[in-house]
Amino acid sequence: MDYYSSHITNLIEGLSGLPGIGSKTAQRLAFHIVHMPTEQVNQLAKAMISAKENVRYCKACCTLTDKELCPICSSEKRDHKTIMVVETTRDLAAYEKTGKYEGVYHVLHGAINPTLGIGLEDIRLKELMQRLRGDVEEVIIATNSSVEGEATATYISKLIKPTGIKVTRIASGVPVGGDLEYIDEVTLLRALEGRVEW
Ligand code: ZN
Repeated sequence: MDYYSSHITNLIEGLSGLPGIGSKTAQRLAFHIVHMPTEQVNQLAKAMISAKENVRYCKACCTLTDKELCPICSSEKRDHKTIMVVETTRDLAAYEKTGKYEGVYHVLHGAINPTLGIGLEDIRLKELMQRLRGDVEEVIIATNSSVEGEATATYISKLIKPTGIKVTRIASGVPVGGDLEYIDEVTLLRALEGRVEW
């Protein structure tokens, strides 16, 4: 039985499809939105549409950006011979916050996860291998220390080894299973500085 207007039911259904939002939270948000001033709701809706329409993948590192090349890839101040491989744009942002990393990145947009059916072709690995044909001296693998992150790191390392490019893995100071974006800057820096050759 539909207790609410079908418009509210649709909104609740849409919201509950978002990650981390259960049906109770979706209900709470839906009612909150209905009570918000119209202008504020318009702004929120516009921000969602414009983000979706304008954000794309950087041609080089695959991070989310609104230009063909992201600001990091197009910067002459960065060391383009050092590539740090991360799982998400949020991980990239976490390292950028430390302000100490001078290389560039490669964003995989995920990690290999056989149980969820996420394989090699589902992450941006091909793009990374293409980049390695250029002038690259070191690849720092900074995937998460979860089972999936470790499996992805091992796989990438095996792929890169034959090219002769130096492969390093960030130190295990990063808590096991911890998402990089939740780790403080000092820990991230320590993990980066303590990286070991693989
Ligand atoms: Zn880029």
